[in-house]
Amino acid sequence: MSTVTTTDLDGAVESAAAHLYVWALKDIPQDLRDALAAAAGTETSVPGQRVLQTILRNVDVAEEEKNLVCQDTGIAVYYCRVGEHFPLHPARIYAALKEGTERATVEHPLRSNTVHTLTRENTGQNVGYRIPIVHWAFIPDWDGLDVKCVPKGSGSENMSFLKMCVPADGVRGIKEFVLDSIVGAGGKPCPPGIVGVGIGGSADYAMHLAKEAIARPVGTRNEDPLVAQLERELKDLLNETGIGPMGLGGDVTVLSVHVEHADTHMTLNPVAVNYQCWAARRASAHISADGTIEYERDA
Ligand code: SF4
Repeated sequence: MSTVTTTDLDGAVESAAAHLYVWALKDIPQDLRDALAAAAGTETSVPGQRVLQTILRNVDVAEEEKNLVCQDTGIAVYYCRVGEHFPLHPARIYAALKEGTERATVEHPLRSNTVHTLTRENTGQNVGYRIPIVHWAFIPDWDGLDVKCVPKGSGSENMSFLKMCVPADGVRGIKEFVLDSIVGAGGKPCPPGIVGVGIGGSADYAMHLAKEAIARPVGTRNEDPLVAQLERELKDLLNETGIGPMGLGGDVTVLSVHVEHADTHMTLNPVAVNYQCWAARRASAHISADGTIEYERDA
């Protein structure tokens, strides 16, 4: 953990975003490094083992050369937990996150990925209309701000799926849909990664929950024991598919399955799947009301 103090709160949020975006792209969290090493320790297929050894070497080279773990700098996605007494309005926080994203892209420099969705013309330095994407949570009786940056690559984001199961489909229907989704995705999302599953709520909220699930440290379990059990069962099920690292066959198709849930309407049973590739990048910062920034890679 490192600490920086500044008196300009807009500037602090902007600096945090600029630092987090680049840091996340270069220096993957320890839980992910451990999960990849554990995967290499269990993988029995020769192509799968080669892929995992290449991934591990890739991570080391990125660290040695202070370079990116993957060329796809993704879309900058931020998760913000805003205390009700944090002295900067979310509108200003958003503007600062956008400035920080742009600054990181120019200063590093990073590849600019964002385009207008119809014209496909580039919209600038990894920013654009409604980009970066920011998810908000508001925390009572607190004056801090937590920002987590999760750059999301397109290879894995393209492998996102939603099904409005009916209640009669039950848990079996949820498992079948997750299995079908991951088998259909094959090697496209750069496995082995984290499968995020969102269940309940509404169609849009289920996908939001699936995305939230992939932002958790690898292998963390949902605090609801029923949901945690589903996470374990899905992980075992998906690792029986034989898809393996990069889809070349093997024992390790996923490093983990994370499920987030919400209660739902009595006639709904929505299920969303959001894949996060092996380069499951994330980095976090805590910003105090006085502008002090504490960086935390593994949060
Ligand atoms: S899916 Fe992930 S590992 Fe594959 S190219 Fe995109 S960012 Fe890189």
